[in-house]
Amino acid sequence: SCTTRLCFLYFIKLHVLKATAFVQDVTMNRNKREKEYYSIDVGDSTFMVLKRYQNLRPIGSGAQGIVCSAYDHNLERNVAIKKLSRPFQNQTHAKRAYRELVLMKCVNHKNIIGLLNVFTPQKTLEEFQDVYLVMELMDANLCQVIQMELDHERLSYLLYQMLCGIKHLHAAGIIHRDLKPSNIVVKSDCTLKILDFGLARTAATGLLMTPYVVTRYYRAPEVILGMGYQANVDIWAVGCIMAEMVRHKILFPGRDYIDQWNKVIEQLGTPSQEFLMKLNQSVRTYVENRPRHAGYSFEKLFPDVLFPADSEHNKLKASQARDLLSKMLVIDASKRISVDEALQHPYINVWYDLTEVEAPPPVITDKQLDEREHTVEEWKELIYKEVLDWEERTKNGVIRGQPASIAQVQQ
Ligand code: AMP
Repeated sequence: SCTTRLCFLYFIKLHVLKATAFVQDVTMNRNKREKEYYSIDVGDSTFMVLKRYQNLRPIGSGAQGIVCSAYDHNLERNVAIKKLSRPFQNQTHAKRAYRELVLMKCVNHKNIIGLLNVFTPQKTLEEFQDVYLVMELMDANLCQVIQMELDHERLSYLLYQMLCGIKHLHAAGIIHRDLKPSNIVVKSDCTLKILDFGLARTAATGLLMTPYVVTRYYRAPEVILGMGYQANVDIWAVGCIMAEMVRHKILFPGRDYIDQWNKVIEQLGTPSQEFLMKLNQSVRTYVENRPRHAGYSFEKLFPDVLFPADSEHNKLKASQARDLLSKMLVIDASKRISVDEALQHPYINVWYDLTEVEAPPPVITDKQLDEREHTVEEWKELIYKEVLDWEERTKNGVIRGQPASIAQVQQ
C-alpha cells in the first residue's frame, strides 16, 4: 500500500541520516546555544528542525499535521515533535493552534502533555510559516491500548489518570468536550497524558452541523443536541472510552450525529420527558419523533464475560467497573456522576493521591482565549508572538515556573 511504500522510503532515508548523524554528533557542542536548522523529509512532509533534534521518525498524524519522535541531544532524551504547517491559514486552524500553544505553556500536570520547546525556523514575521511543538514522548495512543486485554489494575489506573488530568483542566476553567482515544497517550509503565485541550467554548457543535471528518463518537448528548453543558460533559467521554476498553468496540459509532444518537438511545433507552423539556424546540421535536427504545440493563450491555472474573477479587472489581459505567453513561447530565464523585468511586479511589488530584491549577492569563476572532494576518502575528515569547522566556530561564538551571539546557 501507499503507507508501506512511504515507510520503506523513509527507512532508506533514515539509514542515510544515521550515517551523517554520527559525524554531526561528534562535532556538535551540546552546551552552546545552537540555532541552526536542518531539513528532513518524513512521510510526505518536510520537517525543518533545530540540529539538537536528530533521528526523526513519524509516529502519528492528526488534524493539525504530522508528529515525529526524535532524540534531543541537549536534554539527552527522546521527545515528540509536532509540526503545525501554516497554523494561521484559516480560523479553525489558527484558533486551535493559538489556544493549544497558550494553554500548553501554562498547564503543568503529570496527566497533561508537557511542552518542552517551541520554535519556528523562519526568521521574521513576513517569512513565518510553521510552528514546531516539542513535547514529552509517550509510547502509544489509547486506540492502541483499546485492542489489548487489560486487567482491573491497569484499567482503573488509566481511568484514574484521565480523571486527574480532566479535573486539573476543569480547575483552570478548561472544559474539554472532545476527549477521544487518539488524543490520549500512554507509556508502557501505564502512565497516561491528555494531548489536547478540546473545543473552545465558542466552537459550534450540534445535530444540525454539517458533518466534516472528525471523530465524534465520544461527544456527550449535551454536545450532540446543542444544549448547555457543565464540567461533567467530560465524564461521558470517559464512560465511552472505558466501555470501549471493556468491549474492544466503539460504544456509539455513527456516520453522523443522527446515526450516533440512534446508537445511544438503542442501548441506553429513550431519555425521560424531564430531559426532553431541556431541549430547544426544534431538537426536541426531532428527539421526540425517534422510535422509542427501552434500552438495556448494564448487566446486558456489559456482561461478565467481558471482564476478567477468575477470582473473587476480580468478580468484585467487575461489578464495581459496571457500576461506574452505569453512573458515567447517563444521558441526562444532571443525573450523571461528577469528576470528583468518579475519583471517589470504589473502582477508582484505590489510586487516590491528593498531590495528583488537587495539584494547584494553572492560571490562564488570556481571558478572551476562546472568544478571539481574527483575520489570517492577525492570527499569524499572534501565533508568531507566542513563539517569540517562548524563546524570550526560556532565554531568561523561566519555563513554567522551573528554575534557571533546567532552563539553560532548553535552547
Ligand atoms: P495530534 O496531532 O496531537 O492529534 O496527534 C496525532 C497522533 O500522534 C496521536 O494520536 C498520537 O498517536 C501521536 N502523538 C502525538 N503526540 C504524541 C506524544 N507526545 N507522544 C507520543 N505520541 C504522540
